[in-house]
Amino acid sequence: MLSLLVFSLLVAPAVQAVDSVSPYHHYVNAELPARTWYQPDSHPVHTLFRRAGANDGVTYASVGSPEWSKGFPADPVSMQNMPQAWLDALHKAVSAGKIPDVPVTITPPGSNPTYPDGYDPMNHDVCSSTYQCRIPGDIWDGPDGYLSLSFDDGPLPPSPTLYKFLKEKGQHATHFYIGTNILQYPDCFEMAWENQDDIAVHTWTHPYMTTKTNEEVLAELGWTMQLIHNSTGGRVPKYWRPPYGDSDMRVRAIAKEVLGLTTVIWNQDTNDWSLSDPVPITSLDKIATQMHTWLTGSKKPGLIILEHELSNQSVQAFMDAWDLVVSNGWKTTSVAQMEGASAYQNSWNASGPVMQAKVGDLSVHPPPSQTAESTT
Ligand SMILES: [Zn+2]
Repeated sequence: MLSLLVFSLLVAPAVQAVDSVSPYHHYVNAELPARTWYQPDSHPVHTLFRRAGANDGVTYASVGSPEWSKGFPADPVSMQNMPQAWLDALHKAVSAGKIPDVPVTITPPGSNPTYPDGYDPMNHDVCSSTYQCRIPGDIWDGPDGYLSLSFDDGPLPPSPTLYKFLKEKGQHATHFYIGTNILQYPDCFEMAWENQDDIAVHTWTHPYMTTKTNEEVLAELGWTMQLIHNSTGGRVPKYWRPPYGDSDMRVRAIAKEVLGLTTVIWNQDTNDWSLSDPVPITSLDKIATQMHTWLTGSKKPGLIILEHELSNQSVQAFMDAWDLVVSNGWKTTSVAQMEGASAYQNSWNASGPVMQAKVGDLSVHPPPSQTAESTT
């Protein structure tokens, strides 16, 4: 987390945006088409993650069992056992010109990820979110009037306190999970899943993703997707959030074109990750002041506040602000469901049916029609 301190101190404030207009104006009455995935039939993600079910002859091991964790890489993420189908899909996307040839960054001590000379992180061809460049299609803002709930870095021991609170308040959040944390804390994972919260991807080992090669980016995302897939009855995650908010045109293209993932950033940052550090850069009082400013301020655009289930203090910072959320009339939903669309690529949510990844399969029932209003 220390490197995030560096990141937070050095990142320039929001400077300019490639696309300053929120693309989320049509978030009601969206509905998945019956018998197809969220992605078009031609998208490679269809063949990379296969759902469980009688027709496939696949059953998944119980979450937390030795069979369940078998075959997944330790930290750091392994390139050795990556499925060839993932690599083939990546290389096909590169050959088709779908993955921009942006060089990897380096992270000099005490500095943000840095591009080689000649590459401007604010240029459209690079567009680094670390430098606050917004790529159209990535999510930074919530719909007007909405506070979209999400928490990063779990599952971890402080998570159950948060989950109990959310359940008590009748709320569902999106959890951007770290793959190795799911392996280490399966009981916490199960608690969020049983609450029918939405599970999304925060990578396998929490690196600065622009420092990674194409294959490493694929591994960080793919292994996390595979573990969530295996642990949620075959659901394929639809959203990911880059650690430290560090992505660019190359990284987001791998996520989108190979794995079907949409990138989610945020538009307000509490720095709550530092609360449990030896020298925190914020405090509960300071966060309370920030929250008051944001929650009593403009509702256009809606809020996506970066928060963590990293420590008891960071969970407390969220719970302390809840009364303000209610008293100021914010509509609330998980980040994954804020567009009124599905939380997963092949399923509406934790309780809806999981669609077959087979074109023409008639066994899939259409999902329920839902609106963003009804998901609060
Ligand atoms: Zn994180």
